[in-house]
Amino acid sequence: MTEQTPARVDMEKIVSLCQRRGFIFPSSEIYGGLSSCWDYGPLGVELKRNIKQAWWRAAVQERDDMVGLDASILMHPQTWEASGHLKGFSDPLVECKSCHLRWRADELAGSSCPSCGGELTEPRLFNLMFKTFMGPVEEDASVVYLRPETAQGMFVNFQNVLDTARKRLPFGIAQIGKAFRNEITTGNFIFRSREFEQMEIEFFVKPESDKEWFDYWLKERFNWYVKLGIKKENLKLRQHMKKELAHYAKDCYDIDYLFPMGWAELEGIANRGNFDLVQHAKYSGKNLSYFDEETNEHIIPYIIEPSAGVDRSALAFLCDAYDEDLAEGELRVLLHLHPDLAPIKVAVLPLSRREKLVALAKQIYADLRQCWMVSYDDAQSIGRRYRRQDEIGTPFCITIDFQSLEDEQVTIRERDSLNQIRVPIKELKTVLTAKLSGERFDTQPLWTAKG
Ligand code: ATP
Repeated sequence: MTEQTPARVDMEKIVSLCQRRGFIFPSSEIYGGLSSCWDYGPLGVELKRNIKQAWWRAAVQERDDMVGLDASILMHPQTWEASGHLKGFSDPLVECKSCHLRWRADELAGSSCPSCGGELTEPRLFNLMFKTFMGPVEEDASVVYLRPETAQGMFVNFQNVLDTARKRLPFGIAQIGKAFRNEITTGNFIFRSREFEQMEIEFFVKPESDKEWFDYWLKERFNWYVKLGIKKENLKLRQHMKKELAHYAKDCYDIDYLFPMGWAELEGIANRGNFDLVQHAKYSGKNLSYFDEETNEHIIPYIIEPSAGVDRSALAFLCDAYDEDLAEGELRVLLHLHPDLAPIKVAVLPLSRREKLVALAKQIYADLRQCWMVSYDDAQSIGRRYRRQDEIGTPFCITIDFQSLEDEQVTIRERDSLNQIRVPIKELKTVLTAKLSGERFDTQPLWTAKG
């Protein structure tokens, strides 16, 4: 958390909404919760799935230079020797309580944070990796670690992918998965937890083209957040200072987001040089080079790594979408979530519980569920039901009224503008598909009652 810019939304409001509406709960809450672990409820799991799907679509599905991977969480312990995690994280560490930079206690001259002057935690011999044992015997030889990042799975599979996916440089491997870090300090809701999910790309390039691809990925990743609705003014790129750079990095930028507690890292984009493949080749004794047919040479590719957090993205999307306004003279809370991210895309709301209306509404509900996550709600006044949907970011509500029984049309109401259009039931799927893909929602009805 760097400079202090006034927060636009209190974290308490986000936490309260998440708990109240079933996005996110403290882990094992009935036992008093488990520090910095969180459970995603019925709406949270949809939001997270949508974030991952949007990322996968941009990173893998729509590209021909990228393939996916799902490596296991437990890896051969030598992986962590080669990567530097075993050694790198076994120093006496102190962490600054305000900017969260970590320092080796034995290398510090003073007693406060060299970067911002903040108070430091007590030094501890600390390895951020969670340790466990493989098999029935708890002895040193059976120690394994929960991965602290998904990246290593992609490095150790470099040759496997190269041999099977028929890719030439430049190409990338993408992966989404859980990572675990025994963080010294946690907090700020899901911003920093001990179990979290990452969405990482390892993009392998010819050494001389590293800068070009580094710049490319900075723009690409920044724009991904903007396309999904995050306001540009709440995002910024921040280059790491030399002393901040991780041991493997040649260059690194963070995409920072203006969270309620201030600017903080949302995603890191690093130029890792050839560090990882060189290290894994050395420790495994395997050849991890690439044969360049243009120059007839074996080379060790450089790696550009955009590394994002699913949970931090979820928090950023929620904070950015949060809003309060006046609708029909009443205060309403709403989430302006991008339709691709909204947990529920459409809500079906019959105006009354009269049998004939319910039958038609249920039929529409069953039909739309084939395509999207749809919610059905017939409890309380229509105004209350609209508010409930606005608060969870549902882009469209469909109202079925008595007129619908006669003219076979229903009303679609849009969350942000409150505009309404009347649409024939048989056109509903087509219209919703277009609207969910971003087609304008004009006040002018597309169809009138009599066609
Ligand atoms: P920080 O400086 O905030 O601890 P980091 O620089 O250690 O983060 P990276 O190693 O670059 O993080 O991890 C890449 C991404 O993974 C981060 O940008 C973040 O989105 C996510 N991430 C890392 N650690 C955590 C955590 N403890 N909780 C939630 N997300 C995390």
